[in-house]
Amino acid sequence: MLDIAKIRADFPILSRKVNGHPLVYFDNAATSQTPTQVIDCIVNYYQHYNANIHRGVHTLSQEATDAYEYARDVICRHFNAKHREEIIFTSGTTHGINLVANGYVSLLNKGDEVIVSALEHHSNIVPWQMLCEKTGAKLKVIPMTDAGELDYAAYKNLVSENTKLVFVNHVSNALGTINPIKEIIELAHTYNAEVLIDGAQAAPHIQADVQALDVDYYVVSAHKMCGPTGVGVLYGKKASLEKLPPYQGGGEMIDQVTFEKTTYAGLPHKFEAGTPNICGGIAFGRAIEYLHEIGFDEIAQYEDELLQYATQELLKIEGLKIYGTAPEKTAVISFNIEGLHPYDIGTIVDKLGIAVRTGHHCAQPIMDYYKIPGTVRASFSFYNTKEEIDDLVKAVKRAKIMLA
Ligand code: PMP
Repeated sequence: MLDIAKIRADFPILSRKVNGHPLVYFDNAATSQTPTQVIDCIVNYYQHYNANIHRGVHTLSQEATDAYEYARDVICRHFNAKHREEIIFTSGTTHGINLVANGYVSLLNKGDEVIVSALEHHSNIVPWQMLCEKTGAKLKVIPMTDAGELDYAAYKNLVSENTKLVFVNHVSNALGTINPIKEIIELAHTYNAEVLIDGAQAAPHIQADVQALDVDYYVVSAHKMCGPTGVGVLYGKKASLEKLPPYQGGGEMIDQVTFEKTTYAGLPHKFEAGTPNICGGIAFGRAIEYLHEIGFDEIAQYEDELLQYATQELLKIEGLKIYGTAPEKTAVISFNIEGLHPYDIGTIVDKLGIAVRTGHHCAQPIMDYYKIPGTVRASFSFYNTKEEIDDLVKAVKRAKIMLA
């Protein structure tokens, strides 16, 4: 059992007021809040050992390097990567996807096929469209169902000898659907296609074991896992990363530089050009430790309770429809009320101190499928409570009366 009062005390922001009301933060799928343990880690870095890493012989540089590389080890253990150099620090999920998409420019030929799903965030669509434009490869789409699940039977028909890469998210940010990634990966591998999993939404709730999944690439952002913005990780199998060319040229990623020829550093540095977000990387490691101190199983169980409760209570509101009704879901509820615009609902509940997200959630194809402009999305974290859900339900009812 989680001690929610104790956990909430770790998050200073939860005691602030918004528009005169205690903050109820239900926009966790966009960005999670930051506990004192992580804030202290950031302050400690800038107060005590702020320095550039890897090249310095002086004490501060060595301390910063040790802390940064320690974070890489924490992240490596968390995802159960086989080798620490398979963990590449990035600026986030978007960066990780672009890094792989850019590398694939030199690996694809005209006639090759890549497969995406209808449930993706734009950041797992657009880089691949750009890749297809550059290479002449063809983008195929796994369709979705009314429940907001992937149509696995259709996927079976799409994948073939021509498939070189499949990229789907582990969890849909717009609907919360947990996708059957193990099966998707297994089938792709029977055709020797690689698989990239966008783990941005799954990572705060599910501890992915990259070896058990046998996934080729797995990308995440720290800011959805109680860490800071502007940092994330690309996990890639060593053999996969080795065959990708570097994404950016610069300092840190080289072996030898002459004007005739430059040779590149080995992993992970080949993909880490320039001064990285050192403090961010260190704080990301601390955030993952913090989540383990709470416990991933406990987090998943409690968030599921919140999801079930919120689903039941919101559905009592007449005219309210929830999009995404898959049995396997994280704590995300996307909904609309008949006749009302999601933006208007979001604005009114904000006046009552409640933060939800409205719009297409960077997943326009999903909205197009349902023929709606967007939804109101409430996404819960382990520091939320049932009382806060009651506040949301009351606020939505009030919005409904005001907008009628
Ligand atoms: N994929 C998914 C499923 C997401 O939810 C997000 C963030 N909303 C992203 C990718 C992009 O993450 P970032 O903006 O941190 O790069």
